[in-house]
Amino acid sequence: MKINSNFLNLKDSYLFATVGRKTTAFKAAHPEKKVIRLSIGDVTRPLAPVVIEAMHRAVDDMSRKETFKGYGPDQYCYGYETLIDSIKGSYARKGVSLESGEVFISDGAKSDLGNILDLFAPENTVLVPDPVYPVYVDTNVMAGRKILYADANLENGFLPMPDFSVDADIIYLCSPNNPTGAAYTKEQLKEWVKYAREKDAVLLYDAAYEYFITDPALARSIYQIEGAKECAIEFCSYSKTAGFTGVRCGYTVVPQALIREGTSLNKLWARRQSTKFNGVSYITQMGAAAVFTEEGEKQISENLGYYRENAKIIANCLDELGIFYTGGKNSPYIWLKCPNEMDSWQFFDYLLENANVVGTPGSGFGKNGEGFFRLTAFGTKEDTLEACSRIRALLLK
Ligand code: PLP
Repeated sequence: MKINSNFLNLKDSYLFATVGRKTTAFKAAHPEKKVIRLSIGDVTRPLAPVVIEAMHRAVDDMSRKETFKGYGPDQYCYGYETLIDSIKGSYARKGVSLESGEVFISDGAKSDLGNILDLFAPENTVLVPDPVYPVYVDTNVMAGRKILYADANLENGFLPMPDFSVDADIIYLCSPNNPTGAAYTKEQLKEWVKYAREKDAVLLYDAAYEYFITDPALARSIYQIEGAKECAIEFCSYSKTAGFTGVRCGYTVVPQALIREGTSLNKLWARRQSTKFNGVSYITQMGAAAVFTEEGEKQISENLGYYRENAKIIANCLDELGIFYTGGKNSPYIWLKCPNEMDSWQFFDYLLENANVVGTPGSGFGKNGEGFFRLTAFGTKEDTLEACSRIRALLLK
């Protein structure tokens, strides 16, 4: 028996563990101080009432033999048509028309982002932006793939563009981005689509934060770009859109038009999912189906508005301090340049010790993250205001 020794090539993921350890140690040493965490990547607002009502109804369905549900319908890999139709409706409002068989329901974007790699040979070369959501890198390290990095930095506003002299087969894009909060315009995405088509590559487009976009110049889906259906798979999630991080539901779009080596990737994914996955619970799917109804959209926009307001509070504070940042406008993440030439961990310690505020060191997301720092808008408004007033007082000193 041999293990998959690629796992031994994974770097220890000590970023969040170290943030947690340092925070706990500081609190133990200073029990009188109120520490505010602007490092959280998890939502804090409760589910929308329409979602709760739909889930209650679904529980009732499960209690009666006439309406009880077992495994989901296998026509669309166990996705219920009500849910798929509501997702198609959300896309239609963005000007994108999808067929039901192109939408796959999952227990979240993270699983699909990892599982999709089953479709691609290990010898493909992967192109990942740096800094990056660590899942893209680690899942490819596990598969033993060669990874190239596209530098995201101050010069390109943390939005790297394709270098046509570099050959890649699988390209990850995340917009609005975690951790940088930067979001591509439609014009920029046209270049990436052109690159992917020219290289016969596949774009893996992570749209987990698309509901934070308010600027109409920005793309909400890669399929708003002409030609993307022939080269892109899109990953979406109810986690940040509708507070489903603990409920677990997402969806992945694999267009029928996406063909490589004469093979439909849609058919491969359907085969993969029906072999290794038995669907998302009926109760969860009914809750998710309520999200993109008229009332659902209204209710989720209240929570999104709450987080947007927090992002604005942080962005305004940094504007006042004259600190460079990306994000905060169409994203719950604010990615700032550490002041006074501090490196990411120096700034982490400085902020924790002097303002009792916790953020996430940018260096944990890749080499280009060194000297940068991530704050998030997922806390409470009171905490965000308090944290910003402490940061202002500290950095104006
Ligand atoms: N993609 C990005 C960029 C994320 O930041 C996250 C969660 O933080 C996910 C995907 C995972 O989402 P899910 O909860 O649907 O698995």
